[in-house]
This record gives sequence, C-alpha cells and structure tokens, in this order.
Amino acid sequence: MLSHILNHLGEDRAAYQGAVTPPIFETSNFAFASVAAMREAGRHEYDAPFYTRGNNPTTALLRTKLAALEGTEDALVFGSGAAAMAATVLTFLRAGDEVVAVQKPYSWTRALLRDVLPRYGMVVRFVDAREVSEVAAALTSATRLIVLESPNSLTMELQDLAAIAAIAKAHGILTICDNSYASPLLQQPAALGIDLVVHSATKYLNGHSDVVAGVVCGAEAQLREIFKGPLMTFGAILGPFEAWLMLRGLRTLEVRLDRICATAVKVIEFLQDHPRVERIYYPGHRDDPQRDLAKRQMRGGSGLLSFTLRADRLADIERFCDALQYFLLAVSWGGHESLVWPMAVVLSGDHLPSAPVPWNLVRLSIGLEAPELLIEDLRQALAH
Ligand SMILES: *Cc1c(COP(=O)(O)O)cnc(C)c1O
Repeated sequence: MLSHILNHLGEDRAAYQGAVTPPIFETSNFAFASVAAMREAGRHEYDAPFYTRGNNPTTALLRTKLAALEGTEDALVFGSGAAAMAATVLTFLRAGDEVVAVQKPYSWTRALLRDVLPRYGMVVRFVDAREVSEVAAALTSATRLIVLESPNSLTMELQDLAAIAAIAKAHGILTICDNSYASPLLQQPAALGIDLVVHSATKYLNGHSDVVAGVVCGAEAQLREIFKGPLMTFGAILGPFEAWLMLRGLRTLEVRLDRICATAVKVIEFLQDHPRVERIYYPGHRDDPQRDLAKRQMRGGSGLLSFTLRADRLADIERFCDALQYFLLAVSWGGHESLVWPMAVVLSGDHLPSAPVPWNLVRLSIGLEAPELLIEDLRQALAH
C-alpha cells in the first residue's frame, strides 16, 4: 500500500531512539571492530555501509522505498537523473553494440545517445517508437538496449511498453524506460515487462524543487552490475542530506500528485475551450491520438501538459508567457510551484522551423496552487 511505503517501509524507529523522522547519516566513512569485519564489509559494499560513495544508511532507506514504489527488487540513487541514465546505459554496452531509442528523448538523454555513445563505437538508431513495428524493424543482431521514454518530453508521445518489452525479451535485449513524467503512481513500467526504470527524482519524486537526484529501479542482478561499474567508478552519487530531503519529499508524493492531477484536469477543461488554444497534448485527452494506449498503460496523466497557442509570431507566445503571474518561467518541473516553458525559449527571431515539436507549443507544469488561481492567471495572460 502506497502510504505504507511512503511513511513506514524500512524505517526502524527503535534504532533511531524513537525519532519519527530518520536521522541523516552524514558520514563519508564507516568503522569496524576488527580486520575480519572490515574485510567482510568491503566484500559486500552493495549490501551494507563501508564507504558512502557506495552505500549509506540514509540512501539505503531511500532505495528501499523507491524499489517498492516501482515494484522492483532494488533501486540505486544518483546525483542526478542524467547520471542515472548514463550509468544505466553505459553498464550494458560495449564497442560495436547497437541501441534503439525513441526519436525525441529528454535533451540530455539525446546528447548521451547521439553525441557520447558513437565516440565509443556504439551505434544508436532513433525511431518513431509510437509504432511498435518501427522498433522491431530497427533491431539487428547487435542490438543490446532499447531506450524508451513514455510519455516523452513536450509532445507526450507514448510507447506500447508491454509490446516492446515482449519483443525485446524474445531477442534477449534489455529495455530501459524513463518514467519521470508519469511517476510510479501513474505507471509502473516494470509490471509491463520493462527491465530498468529510470527517473529524474528532481521532478515528482522529490517534488519540492530543492534537490537534483536520479534513480534506477530493476532486478538486483542488473543493479549490481551498474553498482560495481559506472556507479562506483564515475561516483555520481546522491549525498545523504539530499537522500534525506527526498525521503521528506516522498512523504507527500501521493497527496501532491492527487492534487496536481485534479488541478491539471481543471486547467485542461479551461484551455480546451479557449479560442486561442489550438491543441492540447496530454495522455488520454480527446486530442491525444494514442488515448486508448494511455488508458491501457497509465492510471492517468500527471501535472504536465502542453498546448499550442494560435499565434502568428514568436513574440505572441512570449507576450503570453511574460504576462503570467503565477506560472514561473523556469526549466524544470514536478515541484510545488506551477511553471511555464515555451518552445520559444529554444527558438529565436521569427524563424519558425517545421521542427518535430511545434514552435507555438507551451508546456505547463501544474503545482500545488489552487486551480482557480491558475485558471485566472491563464485567462488574463491569454487576453494579452
Ligand atoms: C529532468 C529530466 C531528466 C534529467 O534529470 P536531472 O535530474 O535533471 O539530471 C531526465 N529525463 C527526463 C524526462 C527529465 O525531465
């Protein structure tokens, strides 16, 4: 049960002198009573504290909860979502291996796949993974990994996770899915057969816009490989204090998402009937061509939605965004505060390329403010 995981699982309060909040083990190092005990601990760094680059009781508690949320055997935590993705991808590839990936992944996942991997002799094929057949057609005998992100950035494209996982399994190929957008509350890729589930925990899992963190959830055998490989050698770990802040953030994950999702529905009801709004991008929405798949594999959309604004020039989009009072102009998402991110940020002048992402697209991240406040803000900004 969710509230058991978020508020009780793994917490040994008797060991913390009854403290209801677990202590922060802010230590780099752990001491042992004998050489034999130290030798034993050094051999089992994955399982117990030895040195904080590998294991620490505060991060271990966080790992327990994250694994339970995704329904996997274990989880590893990193200093960022990008570190979690890079460590996971690099663990399972050698020179000559091939990767099949979604066509529009998160920008730094794209940079990893497009710019970094080829330098080490790996081949990456980006495909329109909305079609399972496109994924299947890109597989070769050298394919080791399929990298998915459902929903994906900005345009909320989905992949049929169960169907792709089944094809991958038949070919002995590992699957990774970035589940940041849905969170484990709205979608559990592992239950659909995906091997490794990656999160930018900076977003919904922490939810307070005060920590950058990453997670990978999966089977222990594979996580042990990630641990003894990139996690320990690159050392992009999460510190105990950030892990503790995340434990604090997780306490309210369920109530935050309940509120955020309910507000998102109200904001969409307002936007979809507004004459200046062209199209809504939200999993399961009537404008979503993949709504049947969304209904099948997700419990709902989160607080992330995009829409295209009827406009002639970038300046019109900028005027709308600049006029918003409560939606802050900032790049991240998933926190307590509502945010706006227009595609116009990465475009300039009146050059309107026919990019895969429409130039007049605006993404909102719904926060914890009252829906009336947010709708009123959108109403006045749309009037500009
Ligand atoms: C933010 C984000 C990341 C990267 O996470 P960081 O914590 O910023 O490193 C990866 N995937 C998605 C979908 C994201 O939104």
